[in-house]
Amino acid sequence: MGENDLMEKIVSLAKRRGFVYPSAEIYGGFRSTYDYGPLGTSMLRNVKNAWWDEMVTRRRDVVGIDAAILSSPKIWEASGHLANFTDPLVDCRNCKERWRADHIEGVCPKCGSTDLTEARAFNLMFKTFVGPLEDDAAVAYLRPETAQGMFVNFSNVLGTSRKKPPFGIAQMGKSFRNEITPGNFVFRTREFEQMEMEFFVPPDEADKWFVYWYEKRFAWYVENGIPESMLRIRPHEQDELSHYSTGTVDIEFLFPWGWGELEGIANRTDYDLKAHAAHSGARLEYFDQASNTSYVPYVIEPAAGATRTMMAFLIAAYTEDEVDGETRSVLRLHPRIAPNQVAVLPLMRKEALVAKAADVFDLLSGDFICDYDETQSIGRRYRRQDEVGTPACVTVDYQTLEDGTVTVRDRDTTSQVRVSIEEVASTIAATFAAWKPPVAQ
Ligand code: ATP
Repeated sequence: MGENDLMEKIVSLAKRRGFVYPSAEIYGGFRSTYDYGPLGTSMLRNVKNAWWDEMVTRRRDVVGIDAAILSSPKIWEASGHLANFTDPLVDCRNCKERWRADHIEGVCPKCGSTDLTEARAFNLMFKTFVGPLEDDAAVAYLRPETAQGMFVNFSNVLGTSRKKPPFGIAQMGKSFRNEITPGNFVFRTREFEQMEMEFFVPPDEADKWFVYWYEKRFAWYVENGIPESMLRIRPHEQDELSHYSTGTVDIEFLFPWGWGELEGIANRTDYDLKAHAAHSGARLEYFDQASNTSYVPYVIEPAAGATRTMMAFLIAAYTEDEVDGETRSVLRLHPRIAPNQVAVLPLMRKEALVAKAADVFDLLSGDFICDYDETQSIGRRYRRQDEVGTPACVTVDYQTLEDGTVTVRDRDTTSQVRVSIEEVASTIAATFAAWKPPVAQ
């Protein structure tokens, strides 16, 4: 499959089956913004749950917060975002299009002209006004990253959670950047979701934890179904480093157009805590009782994008194979990531079968994300579920009414087994636990 082919297929599937729609479509769309439909919402939630589960729930040393999107502009002054969170903007003098200078290598991608203006720094933060007066005192910004919420709440969390370094504060949620050139579907949008964790460590342990976290984060993508061959770790060059970082690596994914970042892991040093301490006057330190000294922890930050990662999961999972002489498209998603995990299907729309299938749905929907579908032939319904990545289909037929058994069909192999209704949940759970990612094509 060619690069454009695959992207076209993913974008069309996303729209047709209710993963991602262009936003405000009835008004002609709105500048690279997207709305998530029923399946996309479920899948995005699963991506975030898989992250939260690994980064917070299963760890004794990380806690979560949920900070405000609109907050004091002093945060962005202290963090350096007002002065430094910029991209180099150039105008094409010929066609008047605007570009991010570091993305185009001196040639306008629209008209091919090399007559470009000098690059100037364009701040990516969205500005707005809080309250009824639109004056300077009312200016506020939509957060361009979630990280600062963790730094400004450092003392609150330290005081209420009884954690001590090394420990982390995690958050996921919307961030906003006025990107000069959004594009490649949901890869780069102006409104997107991030999943970030700030891990506070004694300064002399920072290098060790930096390696720990980028290895751990790489493994997370593999465990959730992205083949290792589609991932790589790329250290930043010195001139690429953000204003706060002494070391950064990106975890990159092989998108159809080439390698692109999914997540950055940075050693942010004590930059942020010190900056906020200096600007606010608050003491943002940890008092170590053992040595009777205070210090400002260093921070290792794994910063991932939820929406971009969801897209990577879709691309990695998309395959076409042949079943019964027909081409079938199938999303081989990890059962943890798939928007629906089980589809309950009565063989035909007959009252007794539908009633029994409703019972099976009620039974299974406590353990799995379930879909229910009674339209079309069973073969077509299997194909529809394959196309949206549902790993298991449970079919209720006439034999079910006689002996209480159902068939469980596996998405990846299309094989079917017959089990009693009591055993369905454990049979499916066992298949899910044994699931392995597809070999990259
Ligand atoms: P880029 O260089 O692509 O602009 P970045 O290095 O500025 O990205 P970070 O600030 O490290 O990105 O943000 C962490 C993660 O947030 C990124 O790895 C990405 O997954 C996600 N992200 C950042 N900007 C966007 C965006 N405009 N749209 C979607 N996801 C984004």
